Amino acid sequence: MELSSPVRFVKGVGEARERALLRLGVRTVEDLLFFFPRRYEDRRCITPLSDLAEGGFASVVAEVVSFESRPAYRKGSYQKGFEVASALFSDGKDTVRAVWFNKPHLGDVVTPGARVALYGKVERRGGLQLSNPEFEVLDESDPESVGRIVPVYPATAGLSPKWVRRIVFSALDLYLSEVKDYLPDEIVRKYGFSDLRGSVTELHKPQSRESWLKARNRLAFDELFLLQAGLLLRKKLRSSARADSVSVAMKAGEKFDALLKSIPFKLTGAQERVIQEISSDLASVTPMNRLLQGDVGSGKTAVAVAALVIAVDSGFQAAFMVPTEILAQQHFFRLKASLENIGINVELLTGSLSSSARKEALDATASGKAGLVVGTHAIFGKKVAFKRLGLVIIDEQHRFGVMQKNALMAKTRSPHVLVMTATPIPRALTLSIYGDLDVSLLDELPPGRKPIKTYRLRSSQSGELMRFINDKARQGRQIYWICPLIEESEQLDLSAAYSRFLNLKKRLPELRVELIHGQLPTGEKEAVMSAFEAGEVDLLVATSVVEVGVDVPNATVMVIEDAAHFGIAQLHQLRGRVGRGEEESHCVLLVGKSTPEGAARIDAVLSTSDGFKLAEMDLRQRGPGEICGVRQHGVTDFRVADLTRDRKLMERARQEAAELIAKDPGLQKARGLAEALVSRLGAALELAGIA
Ligand code: ADP
Ligand code: MG
Repeated sequence: MELSSPVRFVKGVGEARERALLRLGVRTVEDLLFFFPRRYEDRRCITPLSDLAEGGFASVVAEVVSFESRPAYRKGSYQKGFEVASALFSDGKDTVRAVWFNKPHLGDVVTPGARVALYGKVERRGGLQLSNPEFEVLDESDPESVGRIVPVYPATAGLSPKWVRRIVFSALDLYLSEVKDYLPDEIVRKYGFSDLRGSVTELHKPQSRESWLKARNRLAFDELFLLQAGLLLRKKLRSSARADSVSVAMKAGEKFDALLKSIPFKLTGAQERVIQEISSDLASVTPMNRLLQGDVGSGKTAVAVAALVIAVDSGFQAAFMVPTEILAQQHFFRLKASLENIGINVELLTGSLSSSARKEALDATASGKAGLVVGTHAIFGKKVAFKRLGLVIIDEQHRFGVMQKNALMAKTRSPHVLVMTATPIPRALTLSIYGDLDVSLLDELPPGRKPIKTYRLRSSQSGELMRFINDKARQGRQIYWICPLIEESEQLDLSAAYSRFLNLKKRLPELRVELIHGQLPTGEKEAVMSAFEAGEVDLLVATSVVEVGVDVPNATVMVIEDAAHFGIAQLHQLRGRVGRGEEESHCVLLVGKSTPEGAARIDAVLSTSDGFKLAEMDLRQRGPGEICGVRQHGVTDFRVADLTRDRKLMERARQEAAELIAKDPGLQKARGLAEALVSRLGAALELAGIA
């Protein structure tokens, strides 16, 4: 048995359970050893039901008295497919109710008479209740589950907590001795780390808080060190990969000069500086790999266009990839209008082109007739071939998965790459995920921008809001109205947006109201968007499809319905759709009843419009992987490390990795590390272009 063997080789893991484990990211025996508890429950001290207090979290053990499940009643009607389950528990003296949402099979296990350990928040709804508690039906024959500190592992359907515990513990007994330490001895000694196997055991079966912390830090350091070493090596590889590069020195020429003359505004100092940084990258035979960070409205597009034109000036094709079709169209029409004047052919490639338009675009791309191709991820579709692709720019990069980016990179040998993001990525993250990217910063807004006024409004104040919207429209301004996000279903999303559209039309009879959403056929999307751009629509009702990138400077009011349901980054993006011209702009957050987290997000967005500060708050609230859209792809999937908490540790890991690589570039003396890089991080490194 090897650590890399599939987990089904472990005794007791059959096909169904293997599938369930896969859902939790456990693929190999090693994954199982490193599958750490999410938290621990001290079942040596259980709160008696009589001591439950509102507002706190509590761990209780009690017996099920009764159980029922019924459809939820919300906003005046029963919600289809939305169930509320409720169970009454007793510990012999007192009772408490527990309530869960949408757990259809709960009734199968929470049966009267079962003894259950529950952990959750205590709230007051009439009486005290546990809301959405985690639970485990106890089995008195399982000595691991009571009377001790119990590890609680991430859960999924089809795996009982007891089973997971047993399988992890038995894997520890059988295979822990196979685990090899890759951290160089010097580093282990320097930081006084405890040994690897002991640390792994400690995380599953903690002895004390201190020893647990020590073990945890060691394991976190391991992960960060491995990642940083990987990123640094990749950077080295890239800069020595000249032979393999198509990049030849690119230089601004006639078209670039013509472009500068045609831009209707004066570039900001930051824009000029960044264009300089990029053009000196482009002038080198080492492929550029740069991240451009600039808050919403900072003028990233102009910088991108300058770079694209330099590539074309130098005889290459350039690709400009954006995350939504609406944005692709907007960029396409604008770039076509401005670039065809200076002799650059622009093509559009999205998923919804007609087959003849698609063929035309593909031909122009393959023949080299298209100097610039603008599009969505359809740009790296299988049929797409470039004649001489030299530069790729990816806008709003956080919306793309790492996979998609790499598929594009694979199309061509090392083109220059610029990724742009408006969701500012905190330094902790740039270091960890983008450790090998050069970073440029657009830290200056175009002149004359007034700060956007942001308000919180209750839906009961909608009369006021209607008057406000009417006034603004009468002054010739335009308004966005973003409908609530309904995560469960795109269909519901749509019907909510549609009824809001009808309702606003009725309440604002003097206004020209239109609706746009993701499922509108391309032609209609285009028509609505260009009517809005042309000022022929006063109020645009939209689902969050307008979130990214859209630029209509005359729109000065942004209303976000049910704002507490959106994430901080999304709210910031949405707000960034206004405040793009010289008029004062307003952002109205409509907030109904919301969770404490939702309220905290609203507070954050009200407190500042500084994208960097908001990103830090977001990182603290959400965890890093989600923000960058890489959670699925293993790059930030740390088992232990936490980028918010472990910044210091990461700086240290980076430093140590850099020193080691400087001393021993081929990792000759660190074979363990070299092997670990390839085997443990193989997939992630491959994604990152290393393996
Ligand atoms: P983002 O960085 O969010 O992509 P855009 O590139 O869409 O921002 O630019 C926002 C708006 O600012 C656009 O209307 C653009 O034309 C305008 N703009 C960009 N640079 C300048 C500048 N230097 N001076 C004045 N307006 C500018
Ligand atoms: Mg943009």
